[in-house]
Order: sequence, then structure tokens, then C-alpha cells
Amino acid sequence: MSTAHAIARDVRAGNRRAVDVLEDCLGRIETHDGDVHAFNTVTADQARAAAAAVDAAVEGGRDPGPLAGVPVAFKDNLCTRGIATTCSSRILEGWQPPYDATVVQAMTAAGAVMIGKTNLDEFAMGSSTEHSAFGPTRNPYDLGRVPGGSSGGSAAAVAAGFAPLALGSDTGGSIRQPASLCGIVGIKPTYGRVSRYGLVAFASSFDQIGPFAADVADAALALGVISGHDPADSTSIPAAVPDFEAALGRGVEGLRVGVVSELTGSGRNGAATGGPILGDAALGDAAGELLDGIDADVTERVLEAADALAQAGATVGSVSVPAVTYGLTAYYLIAPAEASSNLARYDGTRYGLRVEGADVEEMNRMTRRAGFGDEVKARIMLGTFALSAGYYDAYYGKAQRVRMLTRRDFDAAYADYDVLLSPTSPCVAFRFGERADPMTMYRCDTCTIPSNLSGDPAMSVPFGTGAEGLPVGVQIMAPALGEETMLTVAAALERAAPPLPKPPLAGVTGSTGAGS
Ligand code: GLN
Repeated sequence: MSTAHAIARDVRAGNRRAVDVLEDCLGRIETHDGDVHAFNTVTADQARAAAAAVDAAVEGGRDPGPLAGVPVAFKDNLCTRGIATTCSSRILEGWQPPYDATVVQAMTAAGAVMIGKTNLDEFAMGSSTEHSAFGPTRNPYDLGRVPGGSSGGSAAAVAAGFAPLALGSDTGGSIRQPASLCGIVGIKPTYGRVSRYGLVAFASSFDQIGPFAADVADAALALGVISGHDPADSTSIPAAVPDFEAALGRGVEGLRVGVVSELTGSGRNGAATGGPILGDAALGDAAGELLDGIDADVTERVLEAADALAQAGATVGSVSVPAVTYGLTAYYLIAPAEASSNLARYDGTRYGLRVEGADVEEMNRMTRRAGFGDEVKARIMLGTFALSAGYYDAYYGKAQRVRMLTRRDFDAAYADYDVLLSPTSPCVAFRFGERADPMTMYRCDTCTIPSNLSGDPAMSVPFGTGAEGLPVGVQIMAPALGEETMLTVAAALERAAPPLPKPPLAGVTGSTGAGS
């Protein structure tokens, strides 16, 4: 599979036709998506028409744009006009949005060709795609394992070579964690950098759209296309969009990189296993409470990544960000609280599914009972409880204070460091059913949630393999609107990373343990 850069260059120059690029991707989907199930919908007909229009533009001497002829997959919670947008939920059955999300418009205006809508955990609630109402997506590296979630379909689509680019949404890690588990790059931009207009809301104060790509340069290209102020999203930041790609070659000389001690054990006596840099006792003064449940193979790769950056000229140290240890608890109060409010609109009146009842109230109840899956129902109940009059201060209020603490601790860390490093996911891709109890599943988000609480940008870059030869992702975090520095570091890490084997698109087939 060519990169998005190569495709756009060749299509713009008239050396390759967009329709041929598309047919290659459709062929791969035809052969392998029965196993992978990355897509809820493949929009082959619309895609053929769009690709032909790109070719016609080139033939007519017009420039289709920086993504000319690049097939792109959209997570199925991004509104696409006249095309089913399901959020992988029965409750949106039959619903077709009357408009395109701003990011969908931006991608297609840049010449990209929508190839389909990708599977997700229902309403983006989950970390494995096992909570999709349409059955799980499988990891192209091992079909017996999850691709991560909630944007598992988008990550698997890129990893499997079904499309060079995909978009997802990240509320608590749903771009970065699946990118990590599928061995690709995923970016959660600064909250407000990318318009959320047309993204079906889960937890509005966290939700952010971002790209998946096979390499950092393609991810930066897509980020540039979707970034920018949008008057249709009141939380959109009216800031100029930098040239993200220009940041890739800058080099890390002089940059200060802080390894988060709570998420790696760096800075703890004897705990650092990385190598000369973080193993140095002189750096062992920033030890925060180490969160448990982060696998040693993952931590080792992160510490090796830190060493690689030091060798490339960065100043690397260990830094404590104490509030990250409370991130999970705070997020799982605030996110369900916002979700309980956002999902109140699915009552059988305006969207999708309706189950008739004796009166309106019964119709509402029957529709929601039939339309939502168990995880979504659990979150709605949890969120409603956290917001109820008697408990508001104890739960929601307290969680908001933790959010403030997180902001404060990150500010302190960024006073000394330009970027922070941690694992993206505490483990490599796990088997279906392995994290069935909710707390175990929620712990997948330990390292990613803090940047959602703060609204800062963060991304995952593949860096070697862990258990069973499966990909490990390193997370790079940066202060608000610090995407350029983040990308500079990501590009350096990519240059230093051991080569990752291509996904075999093989392995265990048959039961996913998810009953569908
Ligand atoms: N796994 C987290 C959750 O279930 C994050 C999901 C997301 O980022 N959309 O809420």
C-alpha cells in the first residue's frame, strides 16, 4: 500500500489514476474484510464516482488538492450526508444524516475519496470494539485479538491496507489506543483544533477528531487538512493552522523530553530498565506513585524510545505528574455524566429505531431498552447517578476538581519539559473476551485519559514489539496547540524505531468470544 503522500503526488501529476488506487483498496477489502470487519459500510459506488471526478479534474488541468485520490475511511460516528451513520448502535438503525461533518467536507474538498464507514464500540464507549452492535473488528496482526477501541475499525482499516488514511474520535484514548494496538500512528489533536461539527456527541468536553495513518508524515498531512476554526463548533479555536509537515524534519536537539514516572516507573530506584539515560540514578528524584497494571514489555519500549531521543540530541528526564493516577476515576464520572445527557435525544422520536408502546413514555422506554447495548446503558445509569441532586458534589463535582488538578500538574510538567512520554496502552493487543469485566477494560485508558482531561494534544507512534511480537505504541503528549513539537518528536521516534513487521492478516479465525 502506498502512502497518502505518494498517492496524492502521483494522482496530481497524472501518473496514476484515482480510480485505480481505489480499485486496489476495494479489492483488498473484498478479500480480507470478511475476516477483519473494519467496515460497517463500504461506499463503493460513491467512491468510484468521487475518484472519477478527481481524475477528471486532473485531466482538465485542475488540482484536486493535497489528498488527491487518497481513499479515506471515516469512523461511523462522523455524519455523512445520505449515508447511514450508525455509531455501531441499533438505536440509529436506518438513520441517514442530512449533512456532512466538517472534517468529512474538509477531507473531500482536499481530494480524498471516502471509501466507507468504520466499526466502533457502540457510541465510542469501549477500548476493544467488542461493544459494537454489529460484532467486533479483528486485529490485522492477529485475528484472535482486538484492534483496540473505540475506533478499532479505523485503525484496523489502515493497518490492513484497506485505506491509507482514516479518521476516528478520541474521548478517552479511542484514537491513540487502537493505533498502538494495530502498529500505526494516531493523533488526538488539541481540544478545539479540529471541528467537532457532525461528530455524534459522546462526552462533548472531551471528544476530539483525529487521523490514523501508517506513518507520521501521512498523519501530519491529514491533520493539516482537518484542522482550523469552524464557526459551526462553538468550542473550535480561532487559531491559524501551522504547517505541520514542516515540523517533521526539525530534529529533537535541545528539546526537553519528560518521561512520566507514574506511567513508566522511571525515576524510581531500580525500576528503570531502559538503559543509560533513565537508568541513571541522577534522574531518580522525580518518582511519583507508580500505577500498576502497565506491562513490563510496554514500559521497556517506552524507556528505549526515551533513550533513542536522548541519542538524537534531546534532553531526557523523569517527571512526576501526580494527578494522572486519578485520571481514570475522574473520567469515568465526567464522561458518563455528559453521555447520559447527550444520549437522551435517542428516544424513538427523531432518530432511527422506534419501538411502539401504549403511550409516548412507553415508546421512549421500549425504544431505549431495545436500541442500546449493555455498556451504553451502564454508562447512562452511572452518569445519571453522578449528576443526581444528592450526589452531584460528591461525584461529578469532585471529578471536576481532579480535572483542574490534572491541568495544574501538566502545567508544572510543561514548565520543565517540551513534551512528555508514556506508554499509549498498558498492554499489547489482547484476546477477545480477555478484558470482559468493565474495570479491566477501563484500565486500557490509564495512560491516554489524562490528555483528554487537560484537552492537550497527544499521539501514538509505533516503537517496536512486545509480547507475542505484537506492536507497542509510545505516547507523546504536548501542551495545548503544541502539535508541531509533538510531531517533531514523533518523526524522530519513527526514524529510530525498530522496523515493524507487516500485519500478516492471518491467525485465529472463528469465534471472537463476543457472541456475534
Ligand atoms: N475507552 C474509553 C471509553 O470507553 C474511551 C473511549 C473514547 O475515547 N471514545 O470511554
